[in-house]
Amino acid sequence: MSFRCPTCDATRYASVTVTRPNGTVYRSSLFTCEGCSAVFTDPARYSRPPPSGSQESLERRGWESRRTLEARSRSGR
Ligand SMILES: [Zn+2]
Repeated sequence: MSFRCPTCDATRYASVTVTRPNGTVYRSSLFTCEGCSAVFTDPARYSRPPPSGSQESLERRGWESRRTLEARSRSGR
């Protein structure tokens, strides 16, 4: 499984265990990043997508151009 933390780039995570006052250990359904101790529920969804994906940059470019157009029409007045 390839996991990469989007915050600190760590590739390791661990499941969160909670020790109860009576000493028993409860394994929760949460996971924690070993690099920055961020807590998440699904490593596959929290993991950073591989950089080969160009979908995000395309989306961002579309958003940027829309913003530029807006600024242009506003300053044109
Ligand atoms: Zn992290």
